[in-house]
Amino acid sequence: MTEPLIATCIPDIAGQVRGKAVPLSAFGELFEIGAGWTPANVQITCFDTASESPWGPTGDVRMIPDRNAMVEVPLPGGATERFVLCRVVEGDGAPWECCLRTILDSAIAALKAETGLSLRVAFEHEFTFRNADHEPEPGTAYSLRGLRGRRIFGETLAGVLRDAGLPPDSFLREFGPRQFEITLPPQEAMRAADEAVMLRQLTYAVAEDFEAPVTFSPLVSEHGVGNGVHIHFSFWDENGHPKTRDAARPHGLAAVTGSFIAGILAHLPALTALTAPSALSHIRLTPHRWSAAFNNLGVQDREAAVRVCPTFAGDDEARRSRQFNIEYRATDASATPHLSLAAMIFAGLEGVRAGLPAPEPTTGDLTLLAPDALAAKGLVRLPATLADALDALEADTALLAAFPGRFPSIYLAHKRGELAVLDGKTIDERIAAYCLAY
Ligand code: GLU
Ligand code: MG
Repeated sequence: MTEPLIATCIPDIAGQVRGKAVPLSAFGELFEIGAGWTPANVQITCFDTASESPWGPTGDVRMIPDRNAMVEVPLPGGATERFVLCRVVEGDGAPWECCLRTILDSAIAALKAETGLSLRVAFEHEFTFRNADHEPEPGTAYSLRGLRGRRIFGETLAGVLRDAGLPPDSFLREFGPRQFEITLPPQEAMRAADEAVMLRQLTYAVAEDFEAPVTFSPLVSEHGVGNGVHIHFSFWDENGHPKTRDAARPHGLAAVTGSFIAGILAHLPALTALTAPSALSHIRLTPHRWSAAFNNLGVQDREAAVRVCPTFAGDDEARRSRQFNIEYRATDASATPHLSLAAMIFAGLEGVRAGLPAPEPTTGDLTLLAPDALAAKGLVRLPATLADALDALEADTALLAAFPGRFPSIYLAHKRGELAVLDGKTIDERIAAYCLAY
């Protein structure tokens, strides 16, 4: 006889989901009292080393399950996947400074308080099958043949996601060898971040049942295309009206959208320490990889850090307004969706507060511009390494001020500890390590 277990867990700084399972029969009372958790665990890196923490072996916090963030779904191998995402509180019930879902709550609330608007968000995820024995034949990028080769996997994953309450928008064979993409439709911001976490876990689970391991690592080879995560967002008022677009303004960017994008771009070097936080991430963020290499806005340009996406509504302005959305491309799956989204909102709000004008979109290949021409446009190359990005974050006091308590210093110590693990390792060894971690 077996006792069904449900995992109470949290998406953490390392981009992992950690927690502990409790008997399903006893689960109900956890909504009140929560499950105990060790605060120092926040410093467990993606390689399972422990970075320096203010707590050491002391202290206790509690994970309180969120009824809106539960997954209970049968897997193809016969097991049932059961987990619930939590918020973490101190013993007295106060929010814990390192709870990433609570940090996202605060970003969503600040956006609402200061603009009256909510975000709808859609995540795109790219991933790669790890085993080279399924190396596709040339000609399979984006192809029906490539899709057919993974059809049963794709249809199973789509079914598991549907049954878990997050039906996908699309599944496609991406450009890189053995690379695929799965996209979820837009949701309110917290739900979108929760679903991004669920999607990664359910993709791993299905892949394990197929004995076809996958990785979301930002890179799987030094010079190949990366696995990106792209975050699409749009603004909505409380009556459900779209507010991202203003047809009368350049490129259709409403004033709030322009200022929000300007805030993101102004803080982007620091922001990448939170949204692209592995030692591989900044190799992905280099030119000609269709990721993001500069702090630029582009109109339908996949080399831009922030992209104005196309609409497919002809002259129907009402439909265009509802479709109109902006894409943030400087992130990957080593980042926790909640932290990426919160950081992006905090940076965008800085732009809104300052009333920054909409950035002028760039065109063409920015690597062809001399440094002074780039500087004249306010453009910078994004940090070349995570270490540089962390230094930029440490210096960006305005962005860090949006985060609670000791979170900034804890985060910086976490990530610097992760980098120390990689000291002396070659690029291929680093890629191998991250392919296993993500
Ligand atoms: N693989 C690219 C990245 O690293 C994105 C390609 C695309 O535009 O879908 O972000
Ligand atoms: Mg893609």
